[in-house]
Amino acid sequence: MAKKIIILGATGSVGECALKIISQFPDRFHLVAFSYHKNHEKAQKIAREFNVKYVACTGDQAPKILGDAIHCLPQMEGLLEEEYDLLLNAVVGAAGVRATYKALEQKKTILLANKESLVVGGELFLSKGFSLQDLILPVDSEHSSLFRLLKKNNSFRSLTITASGGPFRHSSEEEIKNASLQAVLRHPTWEMGAKITVDSAGMINKALEIMEAHYLFSVPYKSLSAVVHPQSYVHAIVELHDGTYIFHASEPDMLYPVSYALFYPEEPPFLRPRRNIAELGTLEFLPVDKRRYPGFYLGLEAAQKGGYYPALFNAANEEAVSLFLDGKIRFYEIPHYVEKTLEEAPLRYDGMDVETLFEIDSWARHKVRELLKR
Ligand code: NDP
Ligand code: MG
Repeated sequence: MAKKIIILGATGSVGECALKIISQFPDRFHLVAFSYHKNHEKAQKIAREFNVKYVACTGDQAPKILGDAIHCLPQMEGLLEEEYDLLLNAVVGAAGVRATYKALEQKKTILLANKESLVVGGELFLSKGFSLQDLILPVDSEHSSLFRLLKKNNSFRSLTITASGGPFRHSSEEEIKNASLQAVLRHPTWEMGAKITVDSAGMINKALEIMEAHYLFSVPYKSLSAVVHPQSYVHAIVELHDGTYIFHASEPDMLYPVSYALFYPEEPPFLRPRRNIAELGTLEFLPVDKRRYPGFYLGLEAAQKGGYYPALFNAANEEAVSLFLDGKIRFYEIPHYVEKTLEEAPLRYDGMDVETLFEIDSWARHKVRELLKR
C-alpha cells in the first residue's frame, strides 16, 4: 500500500526534491495534500501532476488559478484533518511550528526539514512530553547523518555537525561588510531556498542546527559542536568513548536525507551516481572563526540560556534576514539586529506556554523593525 503523505512547503527546494522521489515511486507514496505560500503557478503544476484535491495557500489570495476541483484552505494545519501517514514539513521559518505541534499531538510520523519547528518549539514539545525521537525523522542533512550514526551507536562522548562556511569563508571582514545580495546567495556547495542560504553564509544556520540537534537527540550543549568543512562531504561525526570517531558522508545533495526519511525504516534505493572516492581530494576541518561568524556564537548563547531565548533569536534573525533580502540592511548587520533584540528583550520565564511563545516571536519581529527606524 502506498503511504499517504502531506507536504508543507511543496513549492520549495526541499519540497521539490521530495516530489521528485515521490513521482519515481508512485506505488510507495501518494501525495494527498500540500501547502505553498505564493508560487501559484508551481502549485498548480504540482496539483495537476499528482492529482491533489486539498491544498493550503498561506500567502496572499486564495487563487482562482487552482480551479474549482481543488479545495483551498488558508492554513496548512487544516490539511492535517485529512487521512495521512507521513507529514513532510518543508516550510521555511517559524511559520512551520504550529503544524509540527499538531502532528505531534496526532502522534504522526513527521519528516522534518523545518528546523525552526524545533528551535522555536523544542522546549514546548518537551514540556508536553512528546517523544520527539520516536515521531520525528530528520531531513536536515546533518541530523539525518546523526540519526543514522546514532541508530548504531547510542552511547557516545560528543556529536559534531559540519558547515561549509558559506561563500565568505576566505573573505576579509572588509569584503563581508561590502557583500552584495548575489554574493551572499551564491552558496558554494548546497542549492537551497533564500532564507537558509543567507543563514548559512553567516553560519546562523549552524547555530539553529545545534539547537535542532539538542532537542531532537536530547543531547546537552556541552556535547554538541560544529566545524567548518568546506567540501560538505562529511555531514556529521560521532565521537565514541574510546576517543575514536565515526563519520557519515555523501555528496551534498538533499536527495539522500529526503529519501532516507521517506523510505524509513527500509533502506532507501540507490538514487544518484556518486563520485569515485579517489577523486575527492583533500577534506578539511576547521574551527568556526568568531570574527567571521558572530551570528553563530550569538545563537549558541541564546541556546544555552534556553527558555524563550531560542525563539527570540530565531524570530529576530528571520526578520533581519527578510530586511536584508529586501535590500533594507547589509548582510553583516543581521547579527547586530539579532544581538540588540536579544539584549532588549523583557524576558521572564515561568514555564513554557504556546501563547507566550508566539507573543515573543511577534515582539522580536516588531523590535527589529523598530531598530531599523532608529
Ligand atoms: P524554500 O524557500 O525553497 O521553500 C520554502 C517553502 O515554504 C515554499 O513552499 C514556500 O512557498 C513556503 N513558505 C514560504 N513562506 C511561508 C510562510 N510564511 N508560511 C508558509 N509557507 C511558507 O526553502 P527550503 O526548501 O530551502 O527550506 C525549507 C526548510 O527546510 C527550511 O526550514 C530550511 O531551513 C530547511 N532545510 C532546507 C535545506 C535545503 O537544502 N533547501 C536543507 C536542510 C534544511 P512558496 O514557494 O509558494 O513561496
Ligand atoms: Mg543542514
